[in-house]
Amino acid sequence: MSQAYNFSAGPAMLPREVLETMQSELLDYGKAKASVMEISHRGADFMELAQKSEQDLRDLMGIPNNYKVLFLQGGASAQFSMVPINLLRGKNIASYAHTGHWSKKAIAEAKRYCDVNVVTDSSENKYTDIDDFSNWNIDANSAYLHYTPNETIAGLEFDYSPEVDMPLVADMSSTILSRPIDVSKYGVIYAGAQKNIGPAGLTIVIVREDLIGNVVENQPILFNYETQSTNDSMYNTPSTFAWYAAGRVFEWLKEKGGVEGMAKINQTKAQKLYSVIDESDFYSNPVAVKYRSWMNVPFILADDSLDKLFLEKAYESNLLALKGHRSVGGMRASIYNAMPESGIDALIDFMKAFEKEHA
Ligand SMILES: *Cc1c(COP(=O)(O)O)cnc(C)c1O
Repeated sequence: MSQAYNFSAGPAMLPREVLETMQSELLDYGKAKASVMEISHRGADFMELAQKSEQDLRDLMGIPNNYKVLFLQGGASAQFSMVPINLLRGKNIASYAHTGHWSKKAIAEAKRYCDVNVVTDSSENKYTDIDDFSNWNIDANSAYLHYTPNETIAGLEFDYSPEVDMPLVADMSSTILSRPIDVSKYGVIYAGAQKNIGPAGLTIVIVREDLIGNVVENQPILFNYETQSTNDSMYNTPSTFAWYAAGRVFEWLKEKGGVEGMAKINQTKAQKLYSVIDESDFYSNPVAVKYRSWMNVPFILADDSLDKLFLEKAYESNLLALKGHRSVGGMRASIYNAMPESGIDALIDFMKAFEKEHA
């Protein structure tokens, strides 16, 4: 098996131990005498897995009892629709923070259902900074406030959660489980699995019970949180393999000291990498220091004619998927929970050697 470090933004690296566990039980899951991919989601083996994975996630995140946890499909993008459909609750305006590519997409989708009040707009600084919360223009009549705690493309991450008198909704796709959060501050938390949870095809939604029911009329039945919650995310066939894999990742996280343990490692990893970038004139990162992401670290080379060579040499050194998003250019190292500190060390060694040779 490859010993490479995979810096892909998503679908992203999975913990090696989890991949090995899945390999060892791929043909024969538990008492099923078949692969976990081949068994009914309504059978005892899968039901047990479903319950345990939910309980493990509840333990990891400290999810209060008055929240439902849903294991859905459609990615975070389906939540761009499901959030207004379920949370408008008779109102016709919602507030959104525009801090990057993904919040922009969420706003565009919400506009199909209601008026959108943009409370702050980081497009003016190319998604490198966030205006102080005290300057945000929040409309008190809004049904909810939506924000993106970590913008995956520009690497812009909040270091606080906004305090508001309305349901707070967070697209946590690229930051969930990377550090402790207080779930009780949120109305809805959602995340596509393929960044920090497991394989693509699964979306986790954590929703406060009193926000369930009362949907916009004539919308797809699968897009109603009530349908999903009363059927334990099994109104139709769930994404069984991705759900199982997520469960194995949750077990791995518990063994690693939970989100508190992860947060320490993640902070160390990110600080190491940013300090190498900051100490050099060869590499740079434009994001305001306090809002730099722990999960996605974009950096550009002073001479972009070296980009291609950097990527080729990195690949030869078993450092994969470092190409930045086309909208930002340069490089991006996505360093989710599954990326060990040794991967950061290998990247840093490579970057220093490349700089020495080409600066
Ligand atoms: C990747 C990503 C998305 C899109 O997720 P899909 O599962 O592909 O719909 C949305 N928001 C954020 C913050 C992301 O990182």
